[in-house]
Amino acid sequence: MRIREIHLTPVAFRDPPLLNAMGVHEPWALRTVVEVVTDEGLSGLGETYGDLSHLQRLRAVAPSLTGLRVHALHEIHARVAASIGTDVGTDQHGLTGAGSNQKTVDAVFSPFEVACLDIQGKAAGVRVADLLGGPVREAVPYSAYLFYKWGAHPGEAEDRFGAALDPEGVVAQARLFIEEYGFGSIKLKGGVLPPDEEAEAVVALRDAFPGLPLRIDPNAAWTPATSVRIGQALEGVLEYLEDPAPEIAGMAEVAAQVPMDLATNMCVVTHDHLPPAIERGAIGVLLIDHHYWGGLLRSSQVAALCKTFGLGLSMHSNSHLGISLAAMTHLAAATPGLDHACDTHTPWQDGQDVVAPGALRFTDGAVPLPDGPGLGIELDRDALAAMHEQYLACGITRRDDTAYMRRFEPSFVPKRAHW
Ligand SMILES: [Mg+2]
Repeated sequence: MRIREIHLTPVAFRDPPLLNAMGVHEPWALRTVVEVVTDEGLSGLGETYGDLSHLQRLRAVAPSLTGLRVHALHEIHARVAASIGTDVGTDQHGLTGAGSNQKTVDAVFSPFEVACLDIQGKAAGVRVADLLGGPVREAVPYSAYLFYKWGAHPGEAEDRFGAALDPEGVVAQARLFIEEYGFGSIKLKGGVLPPDEEAEAVVALRDAFPGLPLRIDPNAAWTPATSVRIGQALEGVLEYLEDPAPEIAGMAEVAAQVPMDLATNMCVVTHDHLPPAIERGAIGVLLIDHHYWGGLLRSSQVAALCKTFGLGLSMHSNSHLGISLAAMTHLAAATPGLDHACDTHTPWQDGQDVVAPGALRFTDGAVPLPDGPGLGIELDRDALAAMHEQYLACGITRRDDTAYMRRFEPSFVPKRAHW
């Protein structure tokens, strides 16, 4: 069964003003929907970033993939690598570590791989999780992913989530998410306010939701010394501390002095980073993300490596739609060592999706594996067309949280080891 056509559709959907160390989310988030169609009429779905530079790389490689077998994933990866050449891609807005050639190749390959696995599953009448070794869990727990946020984008009416700029606002946001989704663990995106204020919010969450695992992710906005001080202060409160300080060296320095595991989706984002991070004891938990670790099978292999070296696993998320949620759920369901609830931005999409309703739902904070073969989802073509129109109309072609923030706070500087 061979690839006959590939359709790439950039889409935009509304995104609330979520704050992070780089700035603030713009009113529209971008993604690219990848549809692979075979000579036998089967089609498969993938989803990836929507930044124009990434879209251009997808468009450049797609013609070289037609005619290849959907099972020839190594060959597809080789064609992608040949198309990328020595290009060192721009990184994803500074929040997933530095760009590199390997990461760029793996990020471009990923949605094609997911779409081919979707097709392989449909052809064999099995789920993608079955292709990854079979599910070890039928439902995948996700965490309530909290953000400091403004009540609205400037000039707009307050959104339904409201503002969260202090511990009370953060606790209220957690309460809303837990009521609506049933989440059993909580993550707070930090790096926005002074570290002691963010630590206060974590303690307020602990007091409001005793027993729920908690984590905070300042996106390397803290110095190692601050990270150590806050980490020690939060002993017994956090399940892990995510990317408090920059780089493997900084993380290793912190890890040696705090009582909890450090987690990362910033200092270990390609295979090259694993040996030094492991050797220096920089991390205890890796946040896997199939969007830049080269798809589901390669992520599965990295997960096995983590098990070998005694690292725990969690899962990273960017703003995404249902195709990514389905892929993340299949991967997590078939990853035995994934011992922490996964991150997801799904609540922030507030019902917007390109996936037809019914296949994906949250029950007690977990997403049950869809029943159907492959990813078990169907494209909602009307929604896809509407979101593509939004992409064309919104005027945004690459995510830039910093430039958007500077429109309102001209002196804003991204916070890397800032405190
Ligand atoms: Mg992170």
